[in-house]
Amino acid sequence: MGEHRSILIFAEQEDGEIHQVSYELLGKGRELADRLGVELNAVLLGWQMESKSSELIYRGADNVFLYDHPSLRDFDVIRYGRNIVKLVRETRPEIFLIGATRIGRTLAPRIAAALKTGLTADCIDLALDEDANLIQIRPAFSGNIMAQIRTKTRPQMATVRYRVMRMRERDTDRRGKIIKMKVEVIEETGMKIIEKIRADEVNLADAEVIVSGGRGLRRPEDFKLLQELAEALGGVVGSSRPLVDAGWISKDHQVGFSGNTVKPKVYIACGISGSPQHLFGMRDSDVIIAINKDPTAPIFNVSDYGVIGDLYEVIPLLIREIKNKARRGGKSDGKAGGDD
Ligand SMILES: Cc1cc2nc3c(=O)[nH]c(=O)nc-3n(C[C@H](O)[C@H](O)[C@H](O)COP(=O)(O)OP(=O)(O)OC[C@H]3O[C@@H](n4cnc5c(N)ncnc54)[C@H](O)[C@@H]3O)c2cc1C
Repeated sequence: MGEHRSILIFAEQEDGEIHQVSYELLGKGRELADRLGVELNAVLLGWQMESKSSELIYRGADNVFLYDHPSLRDFDVIRYGRNIVKLVRETRPEIFLIGATRIGRTLAPRIAAALKTGLTADCIDLALDEDANLIQIRPAFSGNIMAQIRTKTRPQMATVRYRVMRMRERDTDRRGKIIKMKVEVIEETGMKIIEKIRADEVNLADAEVIVSGGRGLRRPEDFKLLQELAEALGGVVGSSRPLVDAGWISKDHQVGFSGNTVKPKVYIACGISGSPQHLFGMRDSDVIIAINKDPTAPIFNVSDYGVIGDLYEVIPLLIREIKNKARRGGKSDGKAGGDD
């Protein structure tokens, strides 16, 4: 293993909030670090992030390298990249993990190129071989096989999909060090934030209920039906890929291999056949409900509940029932909506 004696994870923040994927990386990182007998460190860049640094320790980090400076408040690939590359050169981690988020996917290749090391993108699992090398597991050939990739160079770098690793319980008794690092301040990077506009994007990864539509839908407008069901359940709308490709709905709604990986409490697949690429993105949902006309559709193999029927008949019935139940539950006698 040479001089590489630690695991590093990139702790991502936006608007001062730590992204959950950072805690998931710490969960997996802790497991690997304990097996290797090395320290697990996190690098956090931002402004006025000191109070948030302890969260990383509660979730498994031994040390947090904190780069706290106004110039780092917003993500800038050059400012972040330069400081992180320097840290990696100094601390020489064995493994460096980054979330496969918008920010992580921008940052990781730049760092890997500067360090002249390999990078495996979009891993869904990580393991160690008998020689303590990192096995980076990611789907290949449209998700039909799981490739196991090893990196000859160091650090072994990987981006990891959000919502595939398990985070640890928050333990406020955990102790660790917050190490305040000297920031290399780069005045001009050629990038300037003129205005921040919140993209009108749906956050599928954090949704508890997702109602997804597939090619069983006849027209783009019919997503409204799904939207109504999703709203009645406090959820959001997802989609299979063909409808995204057809421009019926935006890409941020796509579930699957080349879209989002989701783990909601309830996933309702409406008119979706259940291709391996779609299942890849939703099979870890707590409860899967499928509505499909075809009783042989593969989606039924992974469903907890299946409704064989026309979605245009089933969904309005469901909406009516949910609304009725909510009305009954809302009566002043305080009783819940009965046992139906
Ligand atoms: C590299 C690669 C990446 C991919 N990535 C993704 C991805 O991320 N996500 C993804 O979803 N796909 C992805 N795909 C595409 C994938 O292979 C399938 O083509 C796609 O998932 C099929 O979408 P679908 O289930 O909506 O359509 P179909 O397979 O056509 O299924 C439609 C279903 O609707 C049912 N149906 C029809 N009418 C009704 C009705 N009125 N009521 C109820 N049921 C009805 C039918 O019985 C059928 O089962 C990818 C493919 C490749 C090659």
